[in-house]
Amino acid sequence: IGDTADYDREVKSVCPFCGVGCQVSLKVKDNKVKFVEGINGPANEGRLCVKGRFGFDYIHHEHRLTKPLIRRKDAPAKGLNVDPGNWQAHFREATWDEALDAAAKGLKDIGGTGVAGFGSAKCTNEEAYLFQKLIRQGFGHNNVDHCTRLCHASSVAALMENVGSGAVTATFNEIENADVAIVIGANPIENHPVAATYFKQFTKRGGKLIVMDPRGQALKRFASHMLQFRPGADVSMLNAIMHVIVEERLYDQQYIEAYTENWEAEKAHLAEFSPEKMEGICGIPADVLRDVARTFAGAQSAMIFWGMGVSQHIHGTDNSRCLISLALMTGQVGRPGAGLHPLRGQNNVQGASDAGLIPMFLPDYKPVGDDGVRSAFQQVWKDEGVNPEKGLTVTEILDAVHTGDIRGMYISGENPAMSDPDVDHARDALAKLDHLVVQDIFLTETANFADVILPASAFAEKTGTVTNTNRQVQMGRPAVPPPGDAREDWWITVELAKQLGLAWEYAHPREVFAEMTMVMESFDNITWDRLETENAVTYPSLSPTDPGQAIVFADGFPRENGRAKFTPANVIAPDETPDAEYPMIMTTGRQLEHWHTGSMTRRSKVLDAVEPEANCSLHPSTLRQLGAAPGDMIRLTTRRGSIDIMARADRAVSPDMVFVPFAYVEAAANTLTNPAIDPYGKIPEFKFAAVRIEKIGSE
Ligand code: SF4
Repeated sequence: IGDTADYDREVKSVCPFCGVGCQVSLKVKDNKVKFVEGINGPANEGRLCVKGRFGFDYIHHEHRLTKPLIRRKDAPAKGLNVDPGNWQAHFREATWDEALDAAAKGLKDIGGTGVAGFGSAKCTNEEAYLFQKLIRQGFGHNNVDHCTRLCHASSVAALMENVGSGAVTATFNEIENADVAIVIGANPIENHPVAATYFKQFTKRGGKLIVMDPRGQALKRFASHMLQFRPGADVSMLNAIMHVIVEERLYDQQYIEAYTENWEAEKAHLAEFSPEKMEGICGIPADVLRDVARTFAGAQSAMIFWGMGVSQHIHGTDNSRCLISLALMTGQVGRPGAGLHPLRGQNNVQGASDAGLIPMFLPDYKPVGDDGVRSAFQQVWKDEGVNPEKGLTVTEILDAVHTGDIRGMYISGENPAMSDPDVDHARDALAKLDHLVVQDIFLTETANFADVILPASAFAEKTGTVTNTNRQVQMGRPAVPPPGDAREDWWITVELAKQLGLAWEYAHPREVFAEMTMVMESFDNITWDRLETENAVTYPSLSPTDPGQAIVFADGFPRENGRAKFTPANVIAPDETPDAEYPMIMTTGRQLEHWHTGSMTRRSKVLDAVEPEANCSLHPSTLRQLGAAPGDMIRLTTRRGSIDIMARADRAVSPDMVFVPFAYVEAAANTLTNPAIDPYGKIPEFKFAAVRIEKIGSE
C-alpha cells in the first residue's frame, strides 16, 4: 500500500466493488495505483469503506493474466486443478489472433442454441451491451444472463410486475428526508458500508430504523426495532404487519385510490394474517408486529431497503411483493424520503441488467417477445431478426449443459464455478462443455475449465460507464494500462464478434454508448460528453442540464394503466426444511472484507490479511453443544455435499443457524447450497439449506 505523498497523477473513477458506486481518485505513479481516496460523488460524498480504500492492489497481483491462453492438447482432464502460479501443464500462451480464432471457431462450430453466454456485472454498461448483442446477433437466441439471476432477479420480477420498473424508486441518500426506514434481509454495514453511514446518520437525527433479519447485525445498535425473525418466514411477518395496517385503517386511502389497483384483493387476502396467528410462524411477538405496523404507517415519509436475504429464496418474488404492497398501501412512494430500494450488489449489476444482459429482456427491460420492440432493435442493429423466444437463465443454462443441449459457452467476468448453487453440479457442467471461452483478469475457478482464456482488464484499467444502485450512471476512467497483452473487455468482445462474422465497427466505448442511447429511453438526455464533464447523471434525466431524478413515480407508474398493483403473497415453506438428518439451517452471504467469489479481494494484501481463511459463524451455545470452541474445524453437510471450515462464535447468529461466507474456494459454501429456484425470478434459494454440523478437530 502506497505512501500517500508518493504519486504524480490522479484519475477520477468509480470503486469496482459494490453497488453503492463510490467515486474514487486513483493516485498513480509509474503506472501503479499507489493509493485511493474517496471524492465527492453523489452516492458517497467523499466516503469509502475498507474495500474501496484498501482493496485496489489486486490489479497489480502477480497472478494477473497477461497473455491469451489456449488449452494444451495433452492437458490433464478438465477440473478444478490448475494452480494459478503454475498453469503451463494445462495451457499454452498464444497470440491474440490465434486465441480469438480458436475462441470463435469453437463457438461457431457448435453454433445456434448450442452456445450460451454469461456476461458480467463487473464490466461497464458498454461491455454488457456488447456482450448481450454478441450472443443475440451471433447465435440467434437469448440464452444470455449474468449474476443478477443470483442476487435481485426476484426483486426485479416483483418490481416489474407491480410498479412497472425494476430499478429503485428513490436513491438511498433520500433516507435523509425520511423519518422511518425498514432495512430487511440486508446487512449494509458489511455489504453496502457507505450506504450504511447514511442509515446511521438518519438515526442520529431521530429517524426510526426498523431492522428485520434472521441474523443479528451491527445495524441493530442503531435500530428502534430489531426483528430477528425465523429464516424463511418473511411473508408471514410482512403480511401480519400489513394486516394491522388494514385492521386499524392506517392505510392511505387517497393514495390507494389515485395510484393503485387490486387493493380489495390484497385487503381480503391479509385478513388471514393476524399477528396473533403469525407470531408462531415468524417468531416475532404480536405486540411487536403491531408496534412496527403503527410506526411505519404513522411515518410522514418512509423508505424500505432490502437485500439478498429477501430475494434469495424460492419465495423471493413474494417477499418483494409484500414490501411493494406495504409501501403502496401507506403511500410511501414518489415523495422525498419515501421509496422502495433494493440495494444492488455488484458495482454494475444495475447497469448490466439495464443493458439487456437478461434472457427475457432486450436493453431497458424491453420484452424479447414484443414485435414492435424487436423491430426497433433490428433497425438499429441492422439485423435480420432478434429471436422472440425468452432465453435460458444462469441455472437453466448449466442444466442444459448437463443434458447436452448446450455445448459451448462464452463467459466474461463471472465465476459460476464458485458462485452457483450446488457448485459441484456447475463445475461438472463446465467440465462437460466441448468449448468454453473465459474472459477474465485472473485464472479463476471457472477459467480452470476453459479451452481459451482471454486476458481482460480490471476496472482501473478501462474506459466506460457504470450504473449504481441509485440509478446514477457514472464515468470510469483508466488510471493504468492493462498488464502485458491484456485488453479492455469491450475490445475483446468486438474482436470476437468480428471473428464470428458480425460487421461490428466500434472503435471506442463512446460509440457503443451512443448506440445505447438510440435504444434505451432511460438514457435520454445522458451523453458521453455530459458524463465526461459531470462524472455522474441519474436516470431518468429530464433535460440536457437535469442531473437526474432521485425520486420517481410521483405522478403514477410506468404500467399500462399508470397504476401500481397489489399482488397478494402466500406463505410458502423453504424448499427443504430441517429434519433429523439435517437439523440446522445454513445461510450464506458476504463479509465486509471479501467480495463475492474472492477472485479480487483475496488477492488484495490488506483485505486478505484481515480475513485470510475460510470461516463460518455459529452461536456460542451451538458451538458448546458440538463440543467445539472458536477456531475449531467443523464439517457442514447438506444433501449436496460437505465442507470442512473453521468455526467462529457469533451471538448474532441464532442457535439453529450457521452463516457461511461464499468467498473461499477451499471451503466453498456453494458446495452446500440448494439450487431450487423461485418460479418467477428463477433465483436459487441461497439463503436456506438444511445442514448437519459436526466437530472434526482443533486447528
Ligand atoms: Fe466500494 Fe461499496 Fe465500499 Fe463504496 S461502499 S467503497 S462502492 S465497496
